[in-house]
Amino acid sequence: MTDVAAPPTSRQLAMVMDLNKCIGCQTCTVACKTQWTNRNGREYMYWNNVESRPGTGYPRHWEELGGGFDAQGKLRDGVVPGRGQDYGTPWDFNLEDAALGAELRATQAPTHGPNWDEDAGGGEFPNSYGFYLPRICNHCTNAACLAACPRGAIFKRAQDGVVLVDQQRCEGLRYCVAACPYKKVYFNPKISKSEKCIFCFPRVEKGLAPACAHQCVGRIRFVGYLDDVDSQVHKLVHVWKVALPLHAEYGTQPNVFYVPPLPGPPKFDKDGKPIEGSTRIPVELLEQLFGPETRRVLATLEAEREKKRRGKKSELLDLLIAFSHKEMFRLGEPVAPGLVQLGRRGAKAVHEGAR
Ligand code: SF4
Ligand code: SF4
Repeated sequence: MTDVAAPPTSRQLAMVMDLNKCIGCQTCTVACKTQWTNRNGREYMYWNNVESRPGTGYPRHWEELGGGFDAQGKLRDGVVPGRGQDYGTPWDFNLEDAALGAELRATQAPTHGPNWDEDAGGGEFPNSYGFYLPRICNHCTNAACLAACPRGAIFKRAQDGVVLVDQQRCEGLRYCVAACPYKKVYFNPKISKSEKCIFCFPRVEKGLAPACAHQCVGRIRFVGYLDDVDSQVHKLVHVWKVALPLHAEYGTQPNVFYVPPLPGPPKFDKDGKPIEGSTRIPVELLEQLFGPETRRVLATLEAEREKKRRGKKSELLDLLIAFSHKEMFRLGEPVAPGLVQLGRRGAKAVHEGAR
């Protein structure tokens, strides 16, 4: 079962991403980048990125860079990724020359970047496979970035559990970057501060979903409060229990959940005949990401699909199909301003200008 501990905040916003619907179009990435990170030292940051799996991810091999908590609840050592080596240096294209007929090329040799492994996939034809893994900050209930900051600069908002960096308090020490096992805090070298996904809180305060979710072409993202029994996120996480956190073993209690991708059609043997009982995506690969509940979730999804095939109603599949924004987002009334911080320095009132 998905064991999600009660958040210390009064409410917790959450996102569920159905990986069966992600087409890897990167619209979410562009929506986020153009809104928040396209200048002023943020060029290399991808608060939202979409990786191909199998693949090394962004930053490169982030799952091997430590951080998070050990089984005793102590912070594990982590590494600050190297700018050129692990993130890669953002590159430009020869757009002016290309407009005059030259071949479109990068102006410098790229070494790494978001979705570096685009569509590389795994396996061999005709049994190749791959899927997309969109990632944002998980706005964790037990945020390692918050626990690691000696300045008490990282806090969780009481009214929705969004994790933010207080820019006035941050001294750019980068303990948070090392401590986040998902590598979703970034250091801004231009202002010497850490920055990260803010769950588009100015939009949320107006009752709007984050830009990545709002723009998602595949309609894979559901947004709402985990305690709202009428929200899609509550139903998918707590009722149907088909949405799982990514790498729950890191101990941060993420609030972004994933419906794992179905492992696809059976493999073909050397004569081109389907091998009964085989799966295209190795289930072990999905279990590495989403844990031991994965097989149960896949069985539930398959059973509901079978119902639909037989012409029966499936509440779960109808929930996952979701045609309109109101079938994906449930944010309620805009929240009142006047925030309360919850962080290492305890609760305190925050005036508007300090956000
Ligand atoms: S994903 Fe990383 S940056 Fe985001 S709240 Fe969790 S520990 Fe902090
Ligand atoms: S916009 Fe939606 S479908 Fe496209 S890559 Fe992002 S999450 Fe996937």
